[in-house]
Amino acid sequence: MMKVLIIDDSPEALAVAKARLLKENLELLCAQGGQAGLIAARREKPDLILLDLDMPDMSGFEVCRELKSDPELQMIPVIFLAASDETQDKVRGLDLGAVDYVTKPFNAFELRARVRAALRTKRLQDLLIKYTQIDPLTELPNRRALRERLRQAWARFQRHGSALSFIMADIDEFKRINDVHGHPLGDRALREFARVLRRHCRECDFPARYGGDEFAIVVPDEHAEGAARLAGRCCQELAEIRLDAGDAEESIQLSASFGVAEANALDSDETLVRRADEALYRAKAQGRNRVEIAHPEPTPRPAAR
Ligand code: GH3
Ligand code: MG
Repeated sequence: MMKVLIIDDSPEALAVAKARLLKENLELLCAQGGQAGLIAARREKPDLILLDLDMPDMSGFEVCRELKSDPELQMIPVIFLAASDETQDKVRGLDLGAVDYVTKPFNAFELRARVRAALRTKRLQDLLIKYTQIDPLTELPNRRALRERLRQAWARFQRHGSALSFIMADIDEFKRINDVHGHPLGDRALREFARVLRRHCRECDFPARYGGDEFAIVVPDEHAEGAARLAGRCCQELAEIRLDAGDAEESIQLSASFGVAEANALDSDETLVRRADEALYRAKAQGRNRVEIAHPEPTPRPAAR
């Protein structure tokens, strides 16, 4: 069910707007005043905000400006509900990023139709955002989504000093599977690997397809040893899978190599990936089908006095 937040300083106006939308099969939330509205928006991440223009603590324009400058909230459509019929207020509201401007007292049918229209666009927008983040073959998050999540995890690591690890994985001799058995079987192998990663990851881990036959996992709150255990479980399960190649051919055994790196205060998120990648290449060089842990970068010496 889609969530609509109504922000107005007047309890009566909130009750009226809510009553008008009751038939729309929406989750309706109310916040009294601009500040309370911003807090509710941050907490609830609604799909649409109906925003009163005239509020004593903070004008609707100010609330809208705050919403649109917050990366986590800026994609939420805003409809102004305003007593003012002034063209310049409408222009200002729409230029601040609102999708619509409805004048009070509003007609219930019109308000409902405008809310439906805004939510239709929001649904499409959500779908588009989802498609830009997902690898269609494995349905794992793609590299773009991985980069975003790693950046968030990195910021959290720097703020809280909790552990953070990163795993890079690459299917062994995958090209040969494609060459000998064809791309459809190669695709099945990629999907199978994605399933293995998903099965072994915790809720907070973030497995993704890095590209080609390379995969990665962001592992928050884990030191290298913990992440290496996760990689080891994935490595072992993958090696136990037999892919049926069809016809009279024998089944195919898959394996993958893994590199694990733990973040330290000297790293950047990019060097974390690079170190995991170097460990992965070591795993390849040492015979594949194994997990290698990256060496921690040397810590700085205390400055000489
Ligand atoms: P290594 O053990 O050293 O990793 O060898 P490899 O053969 O796995 O390495 P390489 O990087 O040469 O092979 C990756 C192959 O993955 C090459 C490319 O054709 C194939 N590939 C990339 N994306 C896809 C895909 O979506 N589907 C299929 N079937 N193959 C893909
Ligand atoms: Mg490979």
